[in-house]
Formats: sequence, C-alpha cells, structure tokens
Amino acid sequence: MTELLSNYLGGRWQAGTGSGAVLRDPVLGTELVRVDATGLDLRAGFAFAREQGGRALRALTYRQRGELLANVVKVLQSHRDAYYEISTANSGTTKADTGIDVDGAIYTVGSYARLAASLPDGHFLPDGDTQSLAKDGSFATRHLQVPVQGLALFINAFNFPSWGLWEKAAPALLSGVPVVVKPATATAWLTQRMVKDVVDAGVLPAGALSVICGGSAGLLDALEPLDVLSFTGSADTAAILRAHPAVTRHSVRVNIEADSINSAVLMPDAAPGTPAFDLFVKELAREMTQKAGQKCTAIRRAFVAAAHYEAAAQAVGARLARTTVGNPRNEAVRMGSLVSRAQLASVREGLQALRAAADVLHDGSRAALVDADPATSCCVAPTLLGLATPDAVLANHVVHEVEVFGPVATLLPYASVDQAVTQVARGQGSLVASLYGDDAAQLAGAALRLAPWHGRVHVVSPACAATQTGHGNVMPQSLHGGPGRAGGGAELGGVRALDFYHRRVAIQGAPEVLSAL
Ligand code: NAP
Repeated sequence: MTELLSNYLGGRWQAGTGSGAVLRDPVLGTELVRVDATGLDLRAGFAFAREQGGRALRALTYRQRGELLANVVKVLQSHRDAYYEISTANSGTTKADTGIDVDGAIYTVGSYARLAASLPDGHFLPDGDTQSLAKDGSFATRHLQVPVQGLALFINAFNFPSWGLWEKAAPALLSGVPVVVKPATATAWLTQRMVKDVVDAGVLPAGALSVICGGSAGLLDALEPLDVLSFTGSADTAAILRAHPAVTRHSVRVNIEADSINSAVLMPDAAPGTPAFDLFVKELAREMTQKAGQKCTAIRRAFVAAAHYEAAAQAVGARLARTTVGNPRNEAVRMGSLVSRAQLASVREGLQALRAAADVLHDGSRAALVDADPATSCCVAPTLLGLATPDAVLANHVVHEVEVFGPVATLLPYASVDQAVTQVARGQGSLVASLYGDDAAQLAGAALRLAPWHGRVHVVSPACAATQTGHGNVMPQSLHGGPGRAGGGAELGGVRALDFYHRRVAIQGAPEVLSAL
C-alpha cells in the first residue's frame, strides 16, 4: 500500500485513523500516496494553534515576523527540486507550470518578508490620525489595526497546492496569525510536503503552521468567533461555507475566492498586423494552455471587434495547433495534464455544454497526445469556441455562465466597445479582465468602465509589451479577488492583504493615553 501522509496539528504529526484517499499521477494513473484526516481532535488542535502559535507570533513585531518569512523562503528554496518532482507527479504539470505554483509561492513569501521592513517595529498598525472628541482637546479617538486573536483556516483549491498556501500564509504569519491549511485532496501532497519541510526546519514557532490533509468534516465546527476562514474553490462549496453556523452565528470572517468567467478585450484600433493584436493572440493562447487552463484567472471569454473575428480565430487556432500536449516528462510537451479523472469529466461536461451553443474554431479533441495514453491519462488538448455574430451573444447565453476549468475559451465578436463592456459584465463579477490596444485614452476609459466588475483590470499596450506581468499572473503587489460570482474576496495587494488578519478598533481617551499606546 502507498504511504499515508501525516497531518500536523497540535504541534505533532498525527496519522488519520481511516484507510485514506489515494492521490494519483494524472498522466500515468499510478497511485502515489494517501491522505486521511479521520479521527483528528480538531478542537484541541485548533486551540493549540490559537494559544501557542498565536501567542508566540504576536509576541514578535512585524519586522521580526518578516524575518521568519525570510527563513521560510530559505527552507522552501532548499527543497525546490523535490517540489518540482511532486508537482509533475501529482498535478501533471510541465516545468514551466510548476514554476508558476512553486516559484510564484516563494516569490510571494519573499515579497512579504521585504514588505515587513516598511511596517512598524511594534505590535499593531496605526490607522489614521488621532481626532479630538472634546472642544478643549482633552478627549480623543485613535484607530488601530490589531492582529485577530484567532487562527486562520485555509480551505484551498486543487490547482495551486503551493502558491495557494503561501499567498495566504505569508500575510497571515506577517500579521501574527497562526495558520491551519486544508489543501484540496487531489493535490494535497505538495502542500503537506512544504509544511513538513518548514516544520522540520524549526523556523516558525510551534502551532504557527498546521496542515490537515483529507476530508473537510468538522473543520468549520471547530472554528471560534475570532478565527478567520479563507476559502478558494467552487461557488457551490462557497455557498455551503457561507451558510455554516460558524459564519452565520459566530461571525467568523470569511474570504471567498470562487469561480470566474474572466475576459480579454481586443480594442477596435488593434487590427490584425498591429503589435496589440499579436499581444492579444499570444496571451489568449497562453492563458488557455498554461496549467492546462486550470487557473482561476484564465481567460474564458475573448472579445474582438466583429471585423477582426476571423483573423483572431485563425491566429489563435494556429498557436493552439502548435501546442504539444501530453506527459510533462517529455521535453517536447508544452502543456501537461488536468489534475484528476474527476476534473477531466468536469471539463468534458462543461465543454459539451458550450459546444452545443457555439461553433468550434479549434478542435482539441482531434489532437494526438505525446507519451500519454488517452484511456488512462487526464490530458486534454485546447479547444477554442466562437460565436460568429455579436447578436448571438445573448444576455443569458451559456458562455457567460459555464466555467470550464480547463484549456477552453470562447471568442466573441462585438459591434462596439459599449457592447463589449456590457457583455463582459454578464460574467456577473470576475477576478480579472485584460485590454489590448494602443490608444491610451480609449484603454483608460474602458478600464474604468470594467473596474466595478473586477478585482483587477490588466491593460496591455505595446509600450509595456516586454514588461507586463501577464493577464493571469497574480502579483503579490496587486489585489487578487473579484466581486459577485468571483466570490467577493480580496487577497494580496501588498500591505492591503494584512487587513483580513487584523481588526480595526477605536481607542478613546486622553491624548497622553493615546500617544502612550
Ligand atoms: P471545491 O470542490 O469547492 O473544493 C475546494 C476545497 O473545498 C477543497 O479543499 C475541498 O476539499 C473543500 N471542500 C469541499 N467540500 C467542502 C465542504 N462541504 N466543507 C468544507 N470544505 C469543502 O473546488 P475545486 O473543484 O477543488 O476547485 C475548482 C474551483 O476553484 C474552480 O471553480 C475555480 O474557479 C476555483 N478557484 C478559484 C480561485 C480564486 O482565486 N478565485 C483559485 C483557484 C480555483 P476536498 O478536495 O477534500 O473535497
């Protein structure tokens, strides 16, 4: 039988008492390891994190906690090769795609370690100026942000087992809040291994970082009023969590990053042959194929002026045709696998729904796989769909509804920028939209109109072609999250990420008391 991975809770390694769920190689179909969380004393483990981990972290200043993060970076860097192996085996990723997850995580932790130098060498964050409440100035109010006194529970999605942990853990630990992470079962191995390496290295106080691999039963029941919950995953699971008594009765603060039908818009001035057109085509093909389309930020709807629809379809199709798909261990392969059979079934189902309502512009179902058996692997080649006329993009069209979490996007023509903006908004709130053009005023105008529907608007013009960070790349300096369907969450954004792990409080008193704080 394969190895059963341990959970780290209550300051010790604990095996689940069940037989566990098997994690597989999605390309070869072989069994890798098992995970199980049956029988863990979650309440005792959570209490240990709050009392031991929280107390030890809060005894440090922001800058001291920044040093802890710098040490975490060193530990992760020293085990980087092992993370690449686990990612390829368990997530079916190419080296480039593993880099987004693993190196993206290390970069994010490093960013927060550096950001600590700009924070006070103290135990709270000031929030605005002192304001007098008395005519003679003898009584005043001052606002502070103090670290929450509970723990941070992360329930994460399968697509970023490394970055998904660290983009949340870095700001939480910097804030002085202990972390308990429950990774998605299908790809839990990498998260577990990273926590193990950091725990074994002894660079964090006991109780500061815990991991529970396996089922989610009982996790929310163990939360207390001052804890926070950060969830990344489907809108359906998000709805279950929002309705849990921990949230509805105990006011546990929740951040939700859910699914999102993100868009890219090619502006009307960007005709075929212009640099902006080429940038759009390249980015759309990259977004469809990077991590086999399993990115919450990936472009799902791509809008072009009706006059450029055919040219865009051909240019994107030509790029997709050159994408070799299959076993990521083969150097010739550019796009790896979906993470599991369940994910493969879900992609096929979503694709069927879209195909029934759209034209197929590039058909991935005909592509040959490299070094991968279609009967056992979870590899699937990219498919570009399209709707030929703007009028076909109806308000309630399935293309605005169905998120296929794989290498699938739909090309959509628009008659005017106004119409494009209206269509983008039919996604009901997304993580990101990107714009491609060369008219600064037109780009800025469109960005402002898209802003209310998005957490991030990524504007690409030839002037920043070489330096822009990519539609789907989540940079620690920029906000990640989106309104409405995207979950209404907010992560990262530099120091703004610390808000979620702090409570704002007003302290009222005599000026000499307030300045003594
Ligand atoms: P999911 O089924 O909702 O699972 C997400 C996590 O929730 C997993 O850890 C899962 O554990 C856990 N979970 C499932 N049911 C639960 C319950 N009743 N109580 C507590 N936890 C529960 O989502 P998924 O299919 O893995 O992820 C894909 C989705 O995530 C896509 O829709 C994608 O758009 C979204 N996503 C969003 C972002 C973002 O930043 N906005 C990022 C990545 C992915 P198990 O694995 O053990 O079931």
